[in-house]
Amino acid sequence: MVGGMTTQQWTPPRLGSRYADEFPELSVPWEAARADEPHLVALNEELAAELGLDADGLRSTEGLLMLVGNRVPEGATPVAQAYAGHQFGGFSPRLGDGRALLLGELPDGRDLHLKGSGRTPFARGGDGLAAVGPMLREYLISEAMHALGVPTTRSLAVVATGNTVLRESPLPGAVLARVASSHLRVGTFQFARSSGDVDLVRRLADHAIARHHPHAADAENPYLALFTAVQSAQASLIADWMAIGFIHGVMNTDNTTISGESIDYGPCAFMESFDAATVFSSIDAQGRYAYGNQPGIMQWNLARFAETLVPLLGDDQDAAVAQLTAALDEFPAQYNAAFHTRTRAKLGLAGGDDEVAGPLVEDALAFLSGARADHTSFFRQLTTAAGGDDGPLRDLLADRADGLDSWLSRWREAGPSAEEMARVNPIYIPRNHLVEEALDAATAGDPGPFEELLAVVTRPYDEQPGKERFAAPAPPDAAPHVTYCGT
Ligand code: AMP
Ligand code: MG
Repeated sequence: MVGGMTTQQWTPPRLGSRYADEFPELSVPWEAARADEPHLVALNEELAAELGLDADGLRSTEGLLMLVGNRVPEGATPVAQAYAGHQFGGFSPRLGDGRALLLGELPDGRDLHLKGSGRTPFARGGDGLAAVGPMLREYLISEAMHALGVPTTRSLAVVATGNTVLRESPLPGAVLARVASSHLRVGTFQFARSSGDVDLVRRLADHAIARHHPHAADAENPYLALFTAVQSAQASLIADWMAIGFIHGVMNTDNTTISGESIDYGPCAFMESFDAATVFSSIDAQGRYAYGNQPGIMQWNLARFAETLVPLLGDDQDAAVAQLTAALDEFPAQYNAAFHTRTRAKLGLAGGDDEVAGPLVEDALAFLSGARADHTSFFRQLTTAAGGDDGPLRDLLADRADGLDSWLSRWREAGPSAEEMARVNPIYIPRNHLVEEALDAATAGDPGPFEELLAVVTRPYDEQPGKERFAAPAPPDAAPHVTYCGT
């Protein structure tokens, strides 16, 4: 203390370096690029509090330096993580964090990861950087997903670096500070497996079990149990996505987590008019990652995961393959059951007789698909209909209401619960045209629209007076929405 004044400097939290220490084969110690003039664009105070991090501290110079990777907290060994992956079906043996670093593990065991922190040895042709717009996009979508109850990586902050990133035009650069229960991917296992070091795969599997699926350790065959645990988590996750019309857009095996969290929001977008063939990504010309293909693609990705585990299951490789194949064959039934449960809840029929609810679910989905109705509005207006007013539903469907009346009367007889429906059918999702509008404004220096949209979509089930615009689909004359990868 000098002259009665305390100039207390914030000290970053002590981080763990467990992954860096345990897996030198799967990581490269690395330093973030220097940010010339870091300034805060978005800070998730709620998440900061949950992590025991002081928001004012994060806003301080020391905090910003930590969030761009220029101040390494005590205990941390920042690394770029190695992974492989099947991208659009083709195997790339060496992907890895080309523009990101795992800073370390937070006191609760979760990863603190920085995206856009400069080139690493995995950067290949990339510049290692990220622009403010795409990092705010990941922030917004991941926080909306969390609010919608979907397992996901979280976003702690977006810090503009003060550096320029060259895309089609010069853009302000940024780093996203991401929090995840881990960054273990199917691609991490593929990288370990293709090294030929079976002991490394075993250590990685043990690490994954300890971190995400601890009950698997007590199973007769822990590695088979790890596989089935990941499969269950992913079946549930994809059912969550499908129930809200979410299209990930780039479901490569390196973007498929072992924890069952959604990760890497690049070209993702939400479906509006129901169409199973919906694709938004400019590079997905074949529609591999279309809305309706997501469950099948996840099963394919899980097959790639299973292949990495074969040597761990026992000496008899044929028996190992048979066991994993039998487990994998359960995926469609698991996914269908999870999706059916969610759709039943969306129709307010969670309780009651399956023989009554089953056909109602089937027919509702067929109707939705035939009418090409806006996915989110359809279920929300049904919610209003369950409360007694089917006017908004009829307005939504207009001249596409053929067959609605008979379905509605059967459904009403089954006694749908409007309260339950209101808890699972969102009013607000991050609609593509609003996201683009908000990101354009933020990139141009006006954070207002982003903040407003974020506030709306992180309370997706609450009626918010004055925010009707945020519940409406894109205007019919809007150009088709297109998303881009690697932005
Ligand atoms: P993603 O499609 O974002 O999941 O990324 C696929 C791969 O490309 C990962 O290995 C990324 O690290 C890498 N990557 C994407 N953008 C860049 C970039 N600007 N610089 C370096 N690597 C990148
Ligand atoms: Mg990725």
